[in-house]
Amino acid sequence: MDDDFFLVRFWGVRGSIAVSGPEFARYGGNTICIEMRCGKHTLLFDAGSGLRPAGRALQASDVTDFDLLFTHCHYDHIIGLPAFAPIFDPSVKFTLWSGHLAGRMTTRQMIDEFIRPPWFPVKMDVCKAKLDCRDFVSGDVLRPREGVVVRTGSLTHPGGCIGYRVEWGGRVVAVITDTEHEPDKLDQSVLGLIEDADLVIYDCTYTEKEMERRRGNGHSTWQQGVKLCEAAGARGLALFHHDPTRTDEQLDEMEKLAKDRFAGAFAARDGQTLKFPVSLHKKR
Ligand SMILES: [Zn+2]
Ligand SMILES: [Zn+2]
Repeated sequence: MDDDFFLVRFWGVRGSIAVSGPEFARYGGNTICIEMRCGKHTLLFDAGSGLRPAGRALQASDVTDFDLLFTHCHYDHIIGLPAFAPIFDPSVKFTLWSGHLAGRMTTRQMIDEFIRPPWFPVKMDVCKAKLDCRDFVSGDVLRPREGVVVRTGSLTHPGGCIGYRVEWGGRVVAVITDTEHEPDKLDQSVLGLIEDADLVIYDCTYTEKEMERRRGNGHSTWQQGVKLCEAAGARGLALFHHDPTRTDEQLDEMEKLAKDRFAGAFAARDGQTLKFPVSLHKKR
């Protein structure tokens, strides 16, 4: 029974812009989208181009009520929303959450601004699904569904970004993308979100060498992900938000290096699914 698992599925693992071609075939080219299933509850994180196949899968499994949480609204995290089939389905209802623009723009405004001419042929009012847009402030604890606790915190990224810690059934999965680390420093906000986590999905856009000349872009490295996971007692590390130039071969190599340093590390791939057995009696 899938109800006994905390399921994580990667629908888009590529950062910045979608890519295609034989050199990206194994890890995939869709931009950021993660699905989590906590028993009968479905949560999606970000709406990059990976949201499109996620939407088809939701329709195929008759999921018509779910949550979509945004880390932030850079294109690679929202571009899939107008291509998300459930948004046009009147039998679907879902809740959209964002907190990175708190005090500047609501979640509803963020969506309305993005899906409208001249950037898109039509306005949001063609979307027939019932949308419930919610706003929160970094640090808030969200309870989107019964038994599911989502803690939030700020990440270091131009324009702001939210990291999430999802707790259900005694398991913890954290989404930490996009974020930039300071040299020789561990981000306290990130450490709080990933403490004792079963899985940390972490922004590993750059290598340490690339990082030197990409300061200010708001991204991090797998080496920093390992340091954070070790300090926080986290067990799994998904290398994520792959640079659009990173080929399958390079990701294989990066994964190997990361695994040698931290046994729970792996490079996330489009379509990859992880299942964590849960204990529904255990609270955390
Ligand atoms: Zn991004
Ligand atoms: Zn970004």
